[in-house]
Formats: sequence, structure tokens, C-alpha cells
Amino acid sequence: MGVTSSVFELGHTHVLFGADERTGLRTIIAVHSTVLGPALGGTRFYPYDSVDAALTDALRLSRGMTYKNAAAGLELGGGKAVIIGDPHKDKTPDLLRAYGRVVENLDGLYVTAEDVGTSTDDVAIIRETTRHAVGLSIDRGGSGDPSPFTALGVFSGMLAAAKHAWGSEELHGRTVTVQGVGKVGYHLVDYLTDAGCEIVVTDVYQPAVDKVVEEFGVKAVSPDEIYDVDADIYAPCALGATLNPDTIPRLRCGVVCGSANNQLATDADAEALVERGILYAPDFVVNAGGVINVSQERRGYDRNRSAEKVRKLKEATARILEVASEQGINPHRAAVQLAEARIQAAQDAR
Ligand code: NAD
Repeated sequence: MGVTSSVFELGHTHVLFGADERTGLRTIIAVHSTVLGPALGGTRFYPYDSVDAALTDALRLSRGMTYKNAAAGLELGGGKAVIIGDPHKDKTPDLLRAYGRVVENLDGLYVTAEDVGTSTDDVAIIRETTRHAVGLSIDRGGSGDPSPFTALGVFSGMLAAAKHAWGSEELHGRTVTVQGVGKVGYHLVDYLTDAGCEIVVTDVYQPAVDKVVEEFGVKAVSPDEIYDVDADIYAPCALGATLNPDTIPRLRCGVVCGSANNQLATDADAEALVERGILYAPDFVVNAGGVINVSQERRGYDRNRSAEKVRKLKEATARILEVASEQGINPHRAAVQLAEARIQAAQDAR
């Protein structure tokens, strides 16, 4: 089966290929579900090796947004867009405006935002040609950088995971490894420092490491060593698929809770974590702080109200971990089930 046939396998309602010859735009917008509301998800600008690779990413990421938005209790469906190209070379205001026109043609079915390779400044340009874009900078009256909110959500999820694993949400004195100290990892280190944790970081980009070592006095290890550090919590905040058959046997922690999307290489890795006695806080639940924040823009943005909503991810995580324990299923499965049940209930009520 070719990759195009997977369009019909993952339950997407719409997949749109858009192009603009003048600006070189090549985009794929995947709308997975609009049962709970318009499909919200960012635009990824990335130099994909092939159209198939871009389509696969759009399909996978948009389905992930359906689960994330449903689990976060938002009245939003799931969608995602990709633009094929190198953001450093190919991203021009004209191309972004052409992209905005493609989004506008969907008439609100899909609402876009920033993602890897796009920024709040790009969203402002996209907004020139479509009403259906959120995530403007604060000086333009928007919700700004989502990363601090994503970090707050991960931290809130960690409190719930600690309570579930050890009977107390106190993180003081706990050792946390943070893999990737970019936008989210940096703010997470800030929260963990305030909570009195021992922190060990890694990053492939040395200036990012130097910054947190200098600012917060954390320890650093090489990127490969991070899996072997004796820790209470491992926080993947870099890439996906870092929970896999190579890394899981090496982990020496009790809890995994981080911001990276698609941390499990496959669903079987969620079972492997259970077998090793490691509690997994599902990625799409604990990393929803950014989308919760940006979604607030649609009804008049208030930073404090946003933070309050993001902190509720503690209760959402606790509930999922309880359901998983009660039903004897892994937390990833429990999170997917709860998200699907919410979508099904909305569908039935129609
Ligand atoms: P970022 O690009 O700012 O930071 C990622 C960091 O990881 C970078 O410093 C990079 O050098 C580092 N890195 C890359 N490969 C690595 C490796 N092999 N080992 C160690 N470090 C490595 O991205 P971000 O916005 O901080 O996002 C981090 C993760 O969280 C991503 O998976 C992203 O999809 C996810 N996420 C982010 C947000 C958000 O609000 N920014 C929201 C939800 C999910």
C-alpha cells in the first residue's frame, strides 16, 4: 500500500494539497477531525525529502492534534499543515500570504498556528490573507510564544505523575533529566529549579547547554549519556521516538514526563515501560499547554486565565493515570481511549 492510501486509513476528513507557482508554495493541510470544533494545529515548514514524507507527517501530526485537543478538553478538532521547503531559504512573506489564501479557502474548517519552522511573526503575515490563524505575538495582541505554557503543562503533569508514582507531588530533591533545553526545555528547567530539583540536562546544541548551566547551575551530560543517568524523572523535550527498544532498557528512572511529540517509537513501547515499572505521562496530554494557550486567543486573550487552564493538566494527567491503573492498561492507551470517548460522545450528541 502506498502512502496515499493511508489517507483513508487514519480517519481524516479532508486532506488538501495546495500549490502556488509564483511563490513556490507546496503545502499539505490535513484535517483529521472537526467533531469537537474547528481543526486547530500548527504549520510545520520543513525540507521534507519527498512529498510522501510530508504527507505522512501531516497525517500523523493532525491525528495527534485531535487527541491532544480532545484530551485537553478544548472545543477543537485536530489538524496540521506542512509546507515543503527550507524555512531559512524558501520562507518569504509572499509565500506565507499565498499559504494564508489556501487556509482561507477552507473557510474555518482548519485554524493554523506556528510550529517547527514557523514563528509568531510568520503567523502575523499569514493573518494578512486569512482570518483563521492564531498565535500572534503579544505586542500584536496575541498569546505570544507558547513554550513557557507548554513547560508549565509538563511541570503540572509531572506533579500528578509524582503523586501517582510515589504518593506525593513534592519534587524537592528529585533528580530530573531534561533532554533538549530549547524553548520548552529551558522554561521547564526554570520550573524545576524553583521546585528544588536536581537537574541533569543534555542538548546537541552546546550554546543551549551553556545557557542553562550558567543560569541555573544544572549538570550536563552528553546526548547519549542522558538515558543512563540515575534519575527519578526523565523529561524528553527534544525529538520524538526516544522511547524505543534501545533506550527503554537503559532508563534508570521511575517516571517519564516531557514535552516532545510522539515520544513512543511504537505503541508497544508503552507496554515495555509498564514492564520496566516506569510510569509514562502521555506526551499529548502533558504537552498541551501551548495549544491551550493559543486557543485562548480566539475568545479574547488573558495570560492569567491561560496559565490557570494549563495548570489543570495536573488533574487531567492524574485522571488518565488512575484510569490506566484501574483498567490495567498502559497510560498511553488510557489517554487515547479517553480522547476517543469524548469525541464519540460529541458525535453521538449531534
Ligand atoms: P526547540 O527546537 O526550541 O528545542 C529542542 C532542543 O532539542 C534544541 O535545543 C535541540 O538542539 C535539541 N535537540 C535536538 N536533538 C537532540 C538530541 N538528539 N539530543 C538532545 N537534544 C537535542 O523545540 P521546542 O519548542 O523546545 O520543542 C521541544 C519538543 O517539544 C519538540 O518535540 C516539540 O515538538 C515539542 N512541543 C513543543 C511545544 C512548544 O510549545 N514549543 C508544544 C508541544 C510540543
